[in-house]
Amino acid sequence: MAERPRLKGAWTARVITLFPEAFPGILGLSLTGKALDQGLWALDAIDLRPFGEGKHKNVDDTPAGGGAGMVLRADVVGRALEQAAIGTPSDRDRWPVVYLSPRGRPFTQAMAERFSRADGLTLICGRFEGLDERVLEEYEVEEVSLGDFVLSGGEIAAQALIDATVRLIPRVLGNQASTEEESFSEGLLEHPQYTRPAVWKGREIPDILLSGHHAKIATWRRAMAERLTKERRPDLWRAYRGCHDGDPDGDREL
Ligand code: SAH
Repeated sequence: MAERPRLKGAWTARVITLFPEAFPGILGLSLTGKALDQGLWALDAIDLRPFGEGKHKNVDDTPAGGGAGMVLRADVVGRALEQAAIGTPSDRDRWPVVYLSPRGRPFTQAMAERFSRADGLTLICGRFEGLDERVLEEYEVEEVSLGDFVLSGGEIAAQALIDATVRLIPRVLGNQASTEEESFSEGLLEHPQYTRPAVWKGREIPDILLSGHHAKIATWRRAMAERLTKERRPDLWRAYRGCHDGDPDGDREL
């Protein structure tokens, strides 16, 4: 990967993967790419292969107890993690170590906010049937899932996680206010958005948005956000109602 400028203390993602050439991928484009080029955040893709065993640098083996597929070896991933840990804080709050995994806790905006407040993080991209369990225990690895579906590898999930996190770092997005108002930041889905032309295929923009009454617009947007959330995401709606009724039991993840 080409050397980029790096601001001292810039938030850094270290990604352990069998496919380092997949990075920065989409993260190298648009606002995240520009911020990466400016050194506002940094990315180190760490190739797992050189940590492999023997002449062929084997990284995987058959599952203990039998069954289909292959499992990434604990010793191989352990060596890569130890290399990735050099120069990083051992406190997991300051530097989380994450394994992208369908068994993990579902990734949320609240997690992205937590990760963006850390100094950086290390991500392990699985392949095949996943990782030897012992490596997760030994290095206090947190498992995070992108959703209830199975990908072929952790790379796409890692890029999604990094994208959601990096855009919360000050100055990465031009307009910081835009992250404060969007979906999930207050526990609601975002209201519908419109722009020019004022009439398109006979469809008009709701009058209120063209009225110039800022307070009325804000009320309309809030009502729409609440309606959409209630209709589409009863789970989010219950949590939102819980928080706003002073019920500390709202199931929002932090
Ligand atoms: N046998 C595993 C799936 C392995 S899929 C199981 O049933 O749980 C191969 C790799 O893809 C995983 O190790 C993980 O790193 C990644 N992966 C697959 N689905 C994912 C998801 N929903 N979220 C995050 N990572 C995922």
